[in-house]
Amino acid sequence: MLTIMTSFADITTIGVGGHIARFLEPTSRVGVIEAVEDADAKGLPLCVIGGGSNMLVADEPFNGVVIRDARRRITVPDEAAPVENGERTVHINAEAGCNWDDFVAFTVELGLEGVEGLSGIPGTVGASVVQNIGAYGQEVASTVETVEVWDRKDKKTLEIAAADMGFGYRMSKLKASMYTAPATPAADFFPTPRYVVLSVTFALRHSATGTVGYGQLAKALGVEVGDRMETQTIRNAVLKVRAAKGMLEDAGRYATPAMAGTKRTDQVAIAQRAQAAQQNAASASSTPSDEREELAALTPDYNRHSCGSFFMNPILTLEAAATLPADAPRFDATLPDGTLGVKTSAAWLIDHAGFHKGFTVTADARAGLSTLHTLALTNRGGASAADVAALAKTVQDGVEQAFGVRLIPEPVVIGIDLR
Ligand SMILES: Cc1cc2nc3c(=O)[nH]c(=O)nc-3n(C[C@H](O)[C@H](O)[C@H](O)COP(=O)(O)OP(=O)(O)OC[C@H]3O[C@@H](n4cnc5c(N)ncnc54)[C@H](O)[C@@H]3O)c2cc1C
Repeated sequence: MLTIMTSFADITTIGVGGHIARFLEPTSRVGVIEAVEDADAKGLPLCVIGGGSNMLVADEPFNGVVIRDARRRITVPDEAAPVENGERTVHINAEAGCNWDDFVAFTVELGLEGVEGLSGIPGTVGASVVQNIGAYGQEVASTVETVEVWDRKDKKTLEIAAADMGFGYRMSKLKASMYTAPATPAADFFPTPRYVVLSVTFALRHSATGTVGYGQLAKALGVEVGDRMETQTIRNAVLKVRAAKGMLEDAGRYATPAMAGTKRTDQVAIAQRAQAAQQNAASASSTPSDEREELAALTPDYNRHSCGSFFMNPILTLEAAATLPADAPRFDATLPDGTLGVKTSAAWLIDHAGFHKGFTVTADARAGLSTLHTLALTNRGGASAADVAALAKTVQDGVEQAFGVRLIPEPVVIGIDLR
């Protein structure tokens, strides 16, 4: 187990956050459990971190323990793929510390279908089930079979079946255990859930083709929603669409000491080359191409220094939705009490409240909305958590004034009140 000095700014994608009193990287299953159990027994604040891509942490020192699971193995116990319900299903287990996109790349290489649409989402396998990651018509919930956890309350390991995970839109019973109300931390389990994920077992179809499940993706591929294509083609298209919106992490972060070794080296190289090519195309420089690739790989892409989508799409009561302008997006959704509600678009509300891409609170602010994506709050270099929080509050207040809707942050916000 390694203990190094670090800060949240070094290990989160948005690159802000205070010094960490104790940072541990256990390399065994028992090491993870013991580290969690030790912090809990001592009553210390505990943060189990993955890729730090869904966290905004305050600038003040974190006087507790931060644990990053260094186990990244993927195992396929039954590669022979027995037939289940007329289909060949492959069960595949990944340890919690495994980089999520490494996992997706592995499944696509193996000819498995089910998570290709989730290509390029930063973070780890462990955290993927905490907020039930989703994109381009897929959600991780639909491929999860079981989740192996350490239960911090009852102090034992458990296998939770997918059906008992309480999966919903950006939600699971793990995430629910951290809050008493939206954006209101629970006293017992925050900023890390009651159940610490140790590994996840997925059930994937043995198929080299997948379904294109989302309009924007279908358009990029020149096909119809519902068409079947090679999973590798779908993966490549997802990565391209994401890159164009700045919704990938900055591949340069894996060259830093605090992040080195947390992602497959070949995948880091692929991501760095793609990012360099994108930057070169944008800069249209006359430097020879080999040299340009190297230079660009070292240039930070500030649109990618974010937590992804910062606000959840609000799910409103029918009455509240009726007060929105007629052209506001509306989709059927279920409210927490199980009744029918309406999901609208946080990006639409933000944009129509006057906060457009690239918005900053002041002309020289170091935090701003991404110039490519309204929903991403970015660190343009040298921002503090307080700068990001000031931007978030300005957007929340402005949207509330315009539409009567208070936006709820999607990331885990530690040490800052963004209710
Ligand atoms: C550029 C960008 C694009 C994004 N796009 C998407 C997207 O399309 N769809 C989407 O759903 N999300 C998206 N996200 C959000 C983020 O990538 C996901 O939420 C991801 O699953 C977070 O993983 P992580 O390992 O970085 O979690 P972290 O940020 O490290 O942690 C998040 C939470 O999970 C908890 N956690 C971490 N590991 C464990 C564990 N082993 N056991 C229990 N709890 C744990 C932490 O304690 C914390 O509460 C995006 C983020 C970025 C920066």
